[in-house]
Amino acid sequence: MGKLLNEFKDFAMKGNVVDMAIGVVIGGAFGAIVSSVVEDLITPLIGAIFGQPDFSHIMLGPIALGNFINAVVNFLIIAICLFAVVKAINKMKKPAPAPKAARVCPFCKSEIADDATRCPHCTSELAK
Ligand SMILES: [Zn+2]
Repeated sequence: MGKLLNEFKDFAMKGNVVDMAIGVVIGGAFGAIVSSVVEDLITPLIGAIFGQPDFSHIMLGPIALGNFINAVVNFLIIAICLFAVVKAINKMKKPAPAPKAARVCPFCKSEIADDATRCPHCTSELAK
């Protein structure tokens, strides 16, 4: 039983599981913000400018075409908002600095610290 518990702990504590759980929770909260922005800010704004965009009464025979159009319009609004948000976030992110090549001892070719004056592997004195 203890072994199973440990296995479960290993599984649950794996970085990617925790990261995923955080992602799901943040995503859920973020989704609430996005739908609030769309429903409470964007849609009334569009409604004020262009008139309330309600297509739900459009019927194509027995097909509720209007509901479909509403869903597509909502999707487009959300997609445009997300696109703007992602663009803004990408702009804020600084590009990661390129990883510097490790310094290598000229005598034994082992990796050494950048400011080493003596190689820890072959003990050669190094010109700084
Ligand atoms: Zn060396």
